[in-house]
Amino acid sequence: MTAEEKIHQLREELNKHNYNYYVLDNATITDFEFDVKLKELEKLEKENPIFFDANSPTQRVGGTITKNFNTVVHKNRMYSLDNSYSKEDLLDWEKRIEKGLGRSNLEFTCELKYDGASINLTYENGQFVKAVTRGDGFQGDEVTNNIRTIKSIPLSIHQDFVQNFQMRGEIILPIDGFHKMNIERVANGEEEYRNPRNTASGSLKLQDSAEVAKRPLDCLLYQVVTEERKYKTHFQILETARNVGFKVPETIKLAKSIEEVYQFVNYWDTERHNLPYETDGIVIKVNNLQQQEELGYTAKAPRWAIAYKFKAEQVSTVLNEITYQVGRTGAITPVANLEPVQLAGTTVKRASLHNADQIEKLDIRENDTVFVEKGGEIIPKIIGVDFTKRPEDSKPTKYATNCPECNTELVRTTGDAKHYCPNLFGCAPQITGRIQHFISRKAMDIDGLGGETVDLLRKENLISNYADLYDLKVEQIIPLERMAEKSAQNMISGIEKSKEIPFEKVLFALGIRFVGETVAKKLAKHFKSIDNLMAATLEELINVDEIGDRIAQSIVDFSNDLGNMQLIERLKTYGLQLEVSAESLENQTNKLAGQVFVVSGVFHQMSRNQLKKAIEDNGGKVSSSISKKTNFIVAGDNMGPSKLTKAQDLGISIISEQDFIDKIN
Ligand code: AMP
Ligand code: ZN
Repeated sequence: MTAEEKIHQLREELNKHNYNYYVLDNATITDFEFDVKLKELEKLEKENPIFFDANSPTQRVGGTITKNFNTVVHKNRMYSLDNSYSKEDLLDWEKRIEKGLGRSNLEFTCELKYDGASINLTYENGQFVKAVTRGDGFQGDEVTNNIRTIKSIPLSIHQDFVQNFQMRGEIILPIDGFHKMNIERVANGEEEYRNPRNTASGSLKLQDSAEVAKRPLDCLLYQVVTEERKYKTHFQILETARNVGFKVPETIKLAKSIEEVYQFVNYWDTERHNLPYETDGIVIKVNNLQQQEELGYTAKAPRWAIAYKFKAEQVSTVLNEITYQVGRTGAITPVANLEPVQLAGTTVKRASLHNADQIEKLDIRENDTVFVEKGGEIIPKIIGVDFTKRPEDSKPTKYATNCPECNTELVRTTGDAKHYCPNLFGCAPQITGRIQHFISRKAMDIDGLGGETVDLLRKENLISNYADLYDLKVEQIIPLERMAEKSAQNMISGIEKSKEIPFEKVLFALGIRFVGETVAKKLAKHFKSIDNLMAATLEELINVDEIGDRIAQSIVDFSNDLGNMQLIERLKTYGLQLEVSAESLENQTNKLAGQVFVVSGVFHQMSRNQLKKAIEDNGGKVSSSISKKTNFIVAGDNMGPSKLTKAQDLGISIISEQDFIDKIN
């Protein structure tokens, strides 16, 4: 088999497995086997750059940067939907379309109304070529590179279908994935995302497609737009679309009357709470495509479709008390403790009040009767107060001035929505939280030690910071509740083993505010050791790519604290990795020190990411836009003409991929 044949075979195989896994939810090989094949394909593609294909499964990991998203005019307008709220509304709609068509006994397709961000995917000759957001319906933003990373979206269609078409669907973030992202955000000391819909739509506009690739986004399809008259009904074309690779939910259903439509509505009104993603209604469409065409559009929406909106799940209940929670970073979150109430299938007892401004804006007070809504279906939120029920002796809420855990006076810096407890080393939840973060999987990944045990160890005064972990002895642990010799030994050996964890993870584990996983990686790479990092000035920090004022200031604050520096000295004596290892320094030079590169176009010998890595490994800096500071532009095929002009205007050297390779070898 030639390399070309092998490449095609692997691509097809991997596409098939992606489809089984992400669309059918039915994997037929292990992740490991998949990775082996993917690596093999990556290698072959790298050796044979002439077979590069933007739609290859290897391109799903992302890595392209989009600074400005191009505005693209939709070939066919993306309309809104008219709404209905009752069976009567649906019957009225039926009458209108029966009149319009001059016939009765119509057939309908019922679908769920997926709650995310609408997207239009263009396919030409079976190949995915472009993805554009809905925007104002006439034109949207092109987000092709970001969309390519969503694995349930097929990039090439090999089976019998229409040739040229646009596929419309909704980019969604499943509820599970949304929660996972939030757990990580909280662990990084960042504020939680409010709801899956906004997070999904925000994800489409991230500049780095590799970041998009990491998010558990999905795409549910609901319409095929094409001039080819191959299929007669909407249901049929959707079913076929599913068979050729698109994720068309199995929940779609044919209905032969409004009565049957209404059964569908009633069923999903409650059942939707068991779906893995959010929905905000039902969409009913005339099934026959020719009838759809006859009915056409009003100024705003198709006449052949209508949305049925579920009643917003809302209840009122009494707010008994406002309490305050202290997070690991000291951030204070006000919590409404409610008289328990049933809402959207669960009992709600608490709701987040977010911050002081929110409480003030809604004038929320203890003993008020408040309206609670399951906003994005997930986190209950308080949307207002029933002022008619406000007790006469009610007084405006005075936001906490002191920490509920340690009584230290709270601080709030300008521009920050949250109050903080500044008592880093004496506030129990902060102490415990920091150690829990330190041992967590993405940080020191300590086996044999969990969050509850950390809490116990602290309460027993065996530890009061993460360095203390390394002084623990088996004999101290055995007497503790639920501990035995074996578990104590496991814990100590887990702690011992963590001394091998690489520097970038140790840096993340330290729990410096705003230094999440990605930032820790960047800093580790740039500064190479904790000593260099701690000695860095604010200015030096800000000069590091993608390190902003906020992060830089936080690092400076951290290093100015004597307690922190003592902890770090102790970690050094225990033998933790506080600098990058010799191994990872291999292949690194200073050949490009002080030089700023912009990378543009498509490359053949290495991927864009490899190219960037090579620049950084050799001491150079990669910038995403051309400026006076740029020294070189590495230009691949199809470099944008505006970039070219700008580079020429500024007199910046433009070099080829080969020139670059010669430069570093
Ligand atoms: P609206 O924004 O309320 O006017 O509703 C129109 C939007 O509903 C479309 O732009 C789609 O993004 C979204 N939608 C979600 N599910 C469906 C579906 N099954 N069929 C059509 N549109 C849908
Ligand atoms: Zn405190």
